[in-house]
Amino acid sequence: MKDNKKLNGTVIVTYRCNARCSMCNRYKAPSKPEEEISIETIKKLPRMYFTNITGGEPFIRNDIKEIVRELYKKSDRIVISTNGFFTDRIVDLAKEFPQVGIRISIEGLEATNNEIRGLENGYQRGYQTLKKLREMGMKDVGFGMTVQDRNAPDLVPLYDISDEMGMEFATASLHNSFYFVEAKNIIKNRPMVAANFEHLINKLLRSNSPKKWFRAYFNHGLINYIYGQPRLLPCDMSFDTFFIDPYGDVMPCNGTKDKEVMGNLNEQSWDELWNSPEAEKVRNKVRHCDRQCWMIGSASPAMHKYIWKPMMWVLVHKFKALFTKTPYSMYENKICRDLREGRVTKEELDKCSTCDMCAVVNNGLSEASQEQLKYRTGEEIVAEDINNQLK
Ligand code: SF4
Ligand code: SF4
Repeated sequence: MKDNKKLNGTVIVTYRCNARCSMCNRYKAPSKPEEEISIETIKKLPRMYFTNITGGEPFIRNDIKEIVRELYKKSDRIVISTNGFFTDRIVDLAKEFPQVGIRISIEGLEATNNEIRGLENGYQRGYQTLKKLREMGMKDVGFGMTVQDRNAPDLVPLYDISDEMGMEFATASLHNSFYFVEAKNIIKNRPMVAANFEHLINKLLRSNSPKKWFRAYFNHGLINYIYGQPRLLPCDMSFDTFFIDPYGDVMPCNGTKDKEVMGNLNEQSWDELWNSPEAEKVRNKVRHCDRQCWMIGSASPAMHKYIWKPMMWVLVHKFKALFTKTPYSMYENKICRDLREGRVTKEELDKCSTCDMCAVVNNGLSEASQEQLKYRTGEEIVAEDINNQLK
């Protein structure tokens, strides 16, 4: 397994978060700041062609600039996922790193976003931050939206706003995992959500941007995912892709039910960890994993690796676009037809999802981080932390 191939890495710099998203309970399970991944550990990471910095909310860390500075020494491209709350910190970082990518999660138009995210004035803050970054001349900025029953009707209107602003528009749908501290996420009205994806896919296909055509394929994969079907492409997480959590634990992905650990970078060197028997065990589990996630972190490397499949799909649909305004139909997917025609029931599809109403979620916290929750809630801990930081 030892080679010098550049990898695709995601660095979870903190589990602290100030939002209250309805589809993620991470804000209830924060990490302790003193335990969070240090610059020394970041220095040990391998070379990467792409790095995603995420959380929790990464801008809660007041050394985020230092982290980015260090990561640029080993990464060709960096994108930070944020809820957009810390406008000043984001703008300040962008001044030093105008090439950095910023994705601000906005969950729909103003009312829907604020309801789902639970961040005071969240939409305006996010939107104004994006506008400011654009005015500064930053190119790699955009929205990120987790599509669900509540916000699906806002999908295309939000895309239109991002398109007018010349921004990237990244989509996701509901997932369950230790990372989201959630096991009960599920799409209830699949045909309605899929119809909104279909509308978006047609818009993307009609554009003149090859990047958007491949985004259309990714969104086609999301329809397939919410219907509980096997992934369109194999999942190769942990082979040339990794996640590292705030404790230095290296993991294949953020989609597993419980945290899967390949090794710990605080204690081991990268080569030792990456070539360890534990890492091999995790790779073996990935090979047999049946969770069928479709998140950009695992789908994007697969789309590059198995490029001929999305490429064929794009060619077929671009050809159709020569003759019709709606080159894509969700009913191209057999499972959508099966549900419409009663060959499969909603309840049967529910069983194909990872939703488990009885699951006890293991949040992946360290003992010390877990211990602090005995005395106060995660929300109280983080609120006090932020108050102290902003004093
Ligand atoms: S989805 Fe992100 S912003 Fe929302 S609670 Fe979870 S970590 Fe925080
Ligand atoms: S399908 Fe892939 S990304 Fe999802 S849990 Fe399994 S290994 Fe992780």
